Amino acid sequence: MKGNEIRSRFLQYFEDKGHTPVDSSSLVPKDDPTLLFTNAGMVQFKTVFMGEDSRDYVRAVTSQRCVRAGGKHNDLENVGYTARHHTFFEMLGNFSFGDYFKEDAIRYAWEFLTKELGIDPANLWVSIFEDDDEAEQLWDKIEDLPKGRIVRMGEKDNFWAMGDTGPCGPCSEIHIDQGPAAATCGRDDCKLGCDCDRYLELWNLVFMQFNKDADGTMTRLPKPSIDTGMGLERVAAVLQGKLNNFESDLFGPILGRLEELSGKKYGEDPKVDVAMRVIADHARATTFLVADGVLPSNEGRGYVLRRIMRRAVRFGKTLGLQKPFLDSVTRVVADEMGGAYPHLADSASLLEKVTNNEEGRFRETLENGLVLLEEEVVRVSGLKDKTIPGSFIFKLYDTFGFPFDIVRDIALEKGIDFDEQGFMDEMANQRDKSRRSRKDEQVKVLGEGVRSLAAEGLKTEFTGYEEVAGKSRL
Ligand code: ATP
Ligand code: MG
Ligand code: MG
Ligand code: MG
Repeated sequence: MKGNEIRSRFLQYFEDKGHTPVDSSSLVPKDDPTLLFTNAGMVQFKTVFMGEDSRDYVRAVTSQRCVRAGGKHNDLENVGYTARHHTFFEMLGNFSFGDYFKEDAIRYAWEFLTKELGIDPANLWVSIFEDDDEAEQLWDKIEDLPKGRIVRMGEKDNFWAMGDTGPCGPCSEIHIDQGPAAATCGRDDCKLGCDCDRYLELWNLVFMQFNKDADGTMTRLPKPSIDTGMGLERVAAVLQGKLNNFESDLFGPILGRLEELSGKKYGEDPKVDVAMRVIADHARATTFLVADGVLPSNEGRGYVLRRIMRRAVRFGKTLGLQKPFLDSVTRVVADEMGGAYPHLADSASLLEKVTNNEEGRFRETLENGLVLLEEEVVRVSGLKDKTIPGSFIFKLYDTFGFPFDIVRDIALEKGIDFDEQGFMDEMANQRDKSRRSRKDEQVKVLGEGVRSLAAEGLKTEFTGYEEVAGKSRL
């Protein structure tokens, strides 16, 4: 079954069960400074879960565009190396706002996977939050779930939170055992909970019950609700008999374009495969982020996009691509996904400009940065502790706009270490310095302001230190 068909079957299944289909919201969360990007289907319903907002429906179904790069859920570094992570992906989700709860959420999910999609129950496993006896009883009622398949897990895996604050709750996840060949950990005793790709997490059913505020206090939500999320790319790979998301039809045309451009084939050389997967993923993220109004810059969301684009450009070198290529790849993404996401068409010319501009600028300095990095790799390889110092990584960043991720990728390839903490410290130092110099600047401007007021003959009245201190933000 093709990705597009899975998406529409999901929407139809839940529509038939009384859910209102709702469009995906933007990757830039509306009025929510706590969150870098929309990282799950529930984000657009956050205020509904919290009881601050209501809709004219109590059940909804979506296919939500998501980005997990930067922020609490950050998969940027996994991309290319695991079989299941993307920075950009589509999350299929059904939601209940104080309507049905655990029992129906479990029943629907099971029926959709095993009846609609025809996944063999013999391969499915379920995890629940460690003290959620109710979830266990409900799963026990599912007759074709084989015995012994319900596993209790701790907070890290089975308590879901959108970010450091906001709605959250215990959850229950459905996993598929893809067999020993998929155990990238290489262990014979690999079991559910292992971080490798064998027990692939397909669907997370969150039993939304709490809101967490900034000081960590948990309060009960007005009505227990349901929030679920299933990665479309994972389901597509499973149904197409592939062990890697990137081998599903959703990525076929993108990898195809990279094969054309590079003259190399996917599936013959692991290094080439990593590069093609990273570029394919990052091209999707770039296309969708630009369409939602994010532009590459040096801070916040724009900096995450810049890191993503630059990492793609660097992996182009692994493929031996001599000329700019990003625009050609993002074009395939926009063409392929324009059917499901018509808004992509509106930003076609902006996307072309942004990719060409960013790639052009970075290509100029990438070469110089890479030469210095190669030299440094040779130097530290000869040392006892084979570690690229944080100060060096910072210098590359500061001089060439060389993102940390690229240093990390190259260090991993060469089997040497890198001082991430040292780099972060240098970054923090620079931020402090620029904050201080901004302050000095403000003081100077203020001083000039007061002088000019005095020159205009205005008298200032002394009202006490308290008030001056209270008003001053310097
Ligand atoms: P994993 O443990 O594999 O990293 P997760 O527990 O972080 O997944 P959830 O936050 O539960 O994922 O998100 C719900 C669903 O979205 C997952 O079950 C999975 O199918 C999908 N998903 C999550 N992260 C990604 C990703 N980076 N790329 C593709 N699909 C993802
Ligand atoms: Mg994860
Ligand atoms: Mg998980
Ligand atoms: Mg999960």
